[in-house]
Amino acid sequence: MVQGVAIEDGCIVDTDPATGEVIARVRCTPTSEVPAMVARARAAQPAWAATPLAERVSMLKGACASLADRRDELVETIVREMGKVRAEAEEEVSGAIGRATYVEQIGAANAPRQIDNGLVVRDAHGVVVVCSPWNFPADEPLLLCLPALCAGNAVILKPSEVVPLVGAIVGDALRRALPEGVLQLAQGDGAVGAALVQADVQMVAMTGSSATGKKIMAACAPGLKRLVLELGGKDPMICFADADLERAADDAVAFSLFNCGQVCCSVERVYVAEAIKSQFEALCALKAAAFTAGSGFDADVRIGPMVSAMQRDAVAAQLDEAVKAGARVLAQAPVKPGAPPGATYFPATVLTDVPEECAIHRAETFGPLVVISPFDGSEASAARLANDSEYGLAAYVYTRDLGKAARVACKIRAGQVGINNWSLAKAPTRCPWVGAKGSGFGYHSGDDGWRQFSVPKSLIFDDASLVPTEIDGTAVVRD
Ligand code: NAD
Repeated sequence: MVQGVAIEDGCIVDTDPATGEVIARVRCTPTSEVPAMVARARAAQPAWAATPLAERVSMLKGACASLADRRDELVETIVREMGKVRAEAEEEVSGAIGRATYVEQIGAANAPRQIDNGLVVRDAHGVVVVCSPWNFPADEPLLLCLPALCAGNAVILKPSEVVPLVGAIVGDALRRALPEGVLQLAQGDGAVGAALVQADVQMVAMTGSSATGKKIMAACAPGLKRLVLELGGKDPMICFADADLERAADDAVAFSLFNCGQVCCSVERVYVAEAIKSQFEALCALKAAAFTAGSGFDADVRIGPMVSAMQRDAVAAQLDEAVKAGARVLAQAPVKPGAPPGATYFPATVLTDVPEECAIHRAETFGPLVVISPFDGSEASAARLANDSEYGLAAYVYTRDLGKAARVACKIRAGQVGINNWSLAKAPTRCPWVGAKGSGFGYHSGDDGWRQFSVPKSLIFDDASLVPTEIDGTAVVRD
């Protein structure tokens, strides 16, 4: 994505998007230091992998819980560095602190399992590089670091250059809770990320844009490094004529605008059945008008600034192109008066009748736009339109007919489909978080996701009765 972060004299120039003011200069990790970091990680990893699984789980739970000691600082730093509104930052931080159950589930997924006369144990990959994005700056690093660490890997975390202070708080919590060298923090932009990816590491786990994912995949090919790439999306919402209209309009607006639209699984395209289009548009326009933009610290605003001026300008360019091509703006919410000249606000906007060929229908927008288009109301058209994208992260289907919802959902190529809901809010953590097509390669969460951070190894005994009941203090699970 477009971020526009300046690097000066080897430091990230960290700015507040609500004012444009510099809030910190954070030293980038010199690429010359990367080999030594990798050597430290490699030295620490075998003892960490040999630590009983229950102890690893316990230490990781402690790391998450310790974030509570810096809760207020963390919330404030998220609002200041990336512009999220305070209520959403608090929600994110509470989620990060409360990842205890999640860590236990990762531990369970990594336990040795007996299958007949076989025993499947899991070997860590070694050293894992984690590169995280800025839009959920506290939780996204955890979603990749926790399973990588729990599986017995050493991790080098490079948070996004947009949020180095939040990244430092999260990295610090993990580092302090773990043995020396098991978790190290690198700071910097894509150049530092690229140096880490190219170093002698065994796995790369990155959440970010599809463009960066492709670069990382190419860089990992010569070394056949394992990959988890959680990438961008252009998620469709289908609203059939029999949907609960009030709820569908609420969700279309709320989940197009949550985090100022800067969410991988934001609703980016809304397809509404012709028969209810005008009622739906009117509801969306009314609801979106309440999303006043302003500083994330102001209690009366619903969306904060966009993460950067470049990101704001990219969204403005998509909107301009669509309007010139014939799209109609139905509503635009206010921006609170008195914004400093350096602020990056963009008004929440509802748009309809966007011609298919416009970028707003094709490229990830990552901005506060509700983009509505009509369709004929049939199941076949719904699935065709939803699939008409290079991405396949999430999708949403709204109808009172759950049989129809399931049929359409099964035809959509996406990692998760919310049925009358926004899957991000409702998805159980034991369901994998997956991208299809251009949205990803490998995945996290759920047993399938967590197990990607280790390699299974089958020990075959003569007879099922000979399979041990525990390995290194961890009970063997019998399938
Ligand atoms: P980005 O691709 O610009 O950066 C992601 C991370 O990769 C950052 O830490 C960055 O410094 C690093 N990086 C950049 N170039 C690199 C390189 N050549 N080698 C190694 N590392 C490199 O993404 P972003 O702007 O930080 O995040 C927004 C994007 O993330 C959006 O596309 C969004 O959809 C996506 N996202 C996806 C999910 C998901 O679960 N699928 C979740 C959150 C965000």
